[in-house]
Amino acid sequence: MIGGGNTGRNTTIIRSNYLWDASAGLYDHALKIWEGLSQELNYNVRFSQRGVMNLAHDLQDIRDLKRRTHANRLNGIDAVWLSTKEVKEFCPVINTSTDIRYPVLGGTLQGRAGTARHDAVAWGYARGADKMGVDIVQNCEVKGIKRNGDSVEGLETTKGFIKTKKIGVVAAGHSSVIANMADIRLPLESKPLQALVSEPIKPIMDTVVMSNAVHAYVSQSDKGEMVMGGDLDGYNSYAQRGNLPALQHVLSEGVAMFLNLSRLKMLRTWGGIMDMSMDGSPIIDKTHIDGVYLNCGWCYGGFKATPVSGWTFAYTIAQDQAHELNSKYKLNRFNTGHLIDEKGVGTKTWIG
Ligand SMILES: Cc1cc2nc3c(=O)[nH]c(=O)nc-3n(C[C@H](O)[C@H](O)[C@H](O)COP(=O)(O)OP(=O)(O)OC[C@H]3O[C@@H](n4cnc5c(N)ncnc54)[C@H](O)[C@@H]3O)c2cc1C
Repeated sequence: MIGGGNTGRNTTIIRSNYLWDASAGLYDHALKIWEGLSQELNYNVRFSQRGVMNLAHDLQDIRDLKRRTHANRLNGIDAVWLSTKEVKEFCPVINTSTDIRYPVLGGTLQGRAGTARHDAVAWGYARGADKMGVDIVQNCEVKGIKRNGDSVEGLETTKGFIKTKKIGVVAAGHSSVIANMADIRLPLESKPLQALVSEPIKPIMDTVVMSNAVHAYVSQSDKGEMVMGGDLDGYNSYAQRGNLPALQHVLSEGVAMFLNLSRLKMLRTWGGIMDMSMDGSPIIDKTHIDGVYLNCGWCYGGFKATPVSGWTFAYTIAQDQAHELNSKYKLNRFNTGHLIDEKGVGTKTWIG
């Protein structure tokens, strides 16, 4: 279904301030496409460059975040370090008292980063693809992959057999299920990630605030709801709902940073199944089976990459080889040790 997967469930944070060169190249290419996407698709995806802040709560956070801003700038990506006073000026609703559980000791800001409207992105792309002659078959489940030795012959689906020589697998948390159909075992874990929104209120926050150490992030949607999310549920599952402790963690940490959230009623919670790779980076690659291509392992960060994910994958399928931008995102990097470590694990791994 169009937008029925994680594309329709995510909290729409778009940024490119990743640490490593390969990630910077990939995600910033995406950000550049986002900047002209509404015009290109002739569909308003409501891309809003309201900035994304990452807060620091202890000395190690400061060191890690400053290191990342330097790395970003060396890669031509806009990133600045903000003092606590500058954080408060940029987003006055943040609690910067010194006597709170997670005092704000500064933060980073990527001004070109922001959010977009997820449904609009799904439908904008679907309309664009349809116009170019792509057949979109909805409510059609893939049940099996037919092979002749190491070559693909087609797909078994609930609507019948589809003959094809090439298959692109982009199934997020269910990528391993589909790959299994071709006897490919992926280095991925499927885990639920939840998000929630409050009742709508008047505008109080015109940016995105994230805290890696606390594992919580907050923004405000165009409808006025406070959009919040945090860490994964700590177990493998295909159940798209998740547990209460993960939500409780997000809310208790959220309230530490934004006192007035405590007055709000929560409106809705939901979950999606993440395709967690072992280094936090995606796989965009061919496989040993002729005609099976993989685009997975986006973990909690694939929405921001939508334009570059599609672009590099189309190149890889058409040319039967990776583009320079995805040349490091190989399936076999977990064997060779060429990891792209973007796990974003906070410094307080013992919390939550
Ligand atoms: C709560 C939450 C918050 C998130 N927040 C962010 C964020 O702020 N920023 C960010 O960049 N990313 C975020 N993400 C991650 C992001 O949503 C995903 O990485 C991204 O949407 C993946 O896109 P996709 O097209 O690869 O997968 P999806 O959009 O999930 O599409 C996969 C599709 O495959 C289909 N499928 C699966 N199995 C089969 C089958 N057997 N047959 C046919 N179809 C099948 C599914 O139905 C689905 O439609 C978040 C995710 C969640 C759940």
